[in-house]
Amino acid sequence: MGAATLYQAAKRGASVLGIDRFDPPHTHGSTHGETRITRLAVGEGPQYVPLVKRSHDIWRELTAATGQELLYLSGLLTVAPNVSGGGAGHFGDFVELSANVAANYGLPVTRMTAADVRNTYPIYNVSDDYNALLDPNGGVVDCDNAVAVQLQQAQALGATALMNTQVMSVNKTAIGNEVITAQGTFTASKVVNATGSWLKSFIPADRHAYFRITRQVIYWFGVDDPTLFQPDRCPGVIWPGPTDDDYLGGFPMLPNRTPGLKVLTERRVHEYDPDTVNRNVPPEEIEDFVNVVLKDRIQGLQLDNCLHAKVCLYTDTPDDHFIIDTHPDNQNMMVVSPCSGHGFKHSAAIGESLAQWSLDGQSEIDLSAFAWK
Ligand SMILES: Cc1cc2nc3c(=O)[nH]c(=O)nc-3n(C[C@H](O)[C@H](O)[C@H](O)COP(=O)(O)OP(=O)(O)OC[C@H]3O[C@@H](n4cnc5c(N)ncnc54)[C@H](O)[C@@H]3O)c2cc1C
Repeated sequence: MGAATLYQAAKRGASVLGIDRFDPPHTHGSTHGETRITRLAVGEGPQYVPLVKRSHDIWRELTAATGQELLYLSGLLTVAPNVSGGGAGHFGDFVELSANVAANYGLPVTRMTAADVRNTYPIYNVSDDYNALLDPNGGVVDCDNAVAVQLQQAQALGATALMNTQVMSVNKTAIGNEVITAQGTFTASKVVNATGSWLKSFIPADRHAYFRITRQVIYWFGVDDPTLFQPDRCPGVIWPGPTDDDYLGGFPMLPNRTPGLKVLTERRVHEYDPDTVNRNVPPEEIEDFVNVVLKDRIQGLQLDNCLHAKVCLYTDTPDDHFIIDTHPDNQNMMVVSPCSGHGFKHSAAIGESLAQWSLDGQSEIDLSAFAWK
């Protein structure tokens, strides 16, 4: 969110400084692991469609400007149990919700039975008690490179990037903000606070309960035949199972990136601190993931050959939606939450909207659905 905001503000000719306590792209927050799923038929709600559509446009613009491929439209398969209410997280029947959003916006999608999925994509062993929806405009975005490219472009356009510098506090002043860092103090008429899982240190204590930080693991497994898992033959998949513990997300393999198929689940029971969370993934955790989530679902996957596992952080709100609003005590600081495990696909447009808010006082895309209330 920060890299996107910096790029968009620089594009508008603003005098803009981006500050990060690490050196993005890095592996400490919520954005690493090479890929993020994207889809236009956003089952989480129609309020997200303008953001994801605009983000796709921005990534295409960045690719045209830099030659760096960012968006891979492999298609995105949403799978859900046939029973009513089956689906992803708090949202409910995700096939139906995604189909409704597609219908509202006139987006092309294809409904599929489990047999259709197995015939078209034999790698996905979907059982007969599931149905599916294919979004041909979905796929994956290369998140690490998207961050890197936006930071490079921002600096080429005149932005300053101050990395490995922690912001200690942001103080409201008569004319804007005073930003206190370990490297000195800066003044800014507007601040966009996109500090991810560290956001709680900048908001009043009575709002801390809105943000729940959980530890997630991304895995890469060896495959028998890599050609079957390339974006042209392997759509991304979001595939909840019968219990809360066996959600499966699958990502096509990208050229020249980490070998192996990237897969993950979601674990939302325990809460963590981003500075002390255990970043190691012990063998028994990998074994548990294979047995509970992965076994029998993807053909051609080497279940005994986990090549890498990386910890990444979710920060969830109680209803799993986003918060993008001004700071409760400072009208010159905008706060953007790290978006409940589904924010990256919207990030380029969120950055543009935050730059518009900073420079014009409001954004073109309506963000009112993401207000604190
Ligand atoms: C495992 C996993 C899978 C996901 N899958 C998807 C998906 O498929 N599709 C999708 O759309 N989304 C997905 N998401 C969600 C998405 O990745 C996040 O919504 C998004 O990346 C959050 O970006 P962010 O900029 O808010 O946070 P971050 O990338 O964590 O950035 C926050 C930044 O703030 C900096 N910072 C913090 N405190 C300070 C300070 N005091 N001073 C200076 N800098 C500071 C940090 O160093 C960091 O760089 C997933 C997330 C995870 C963890």
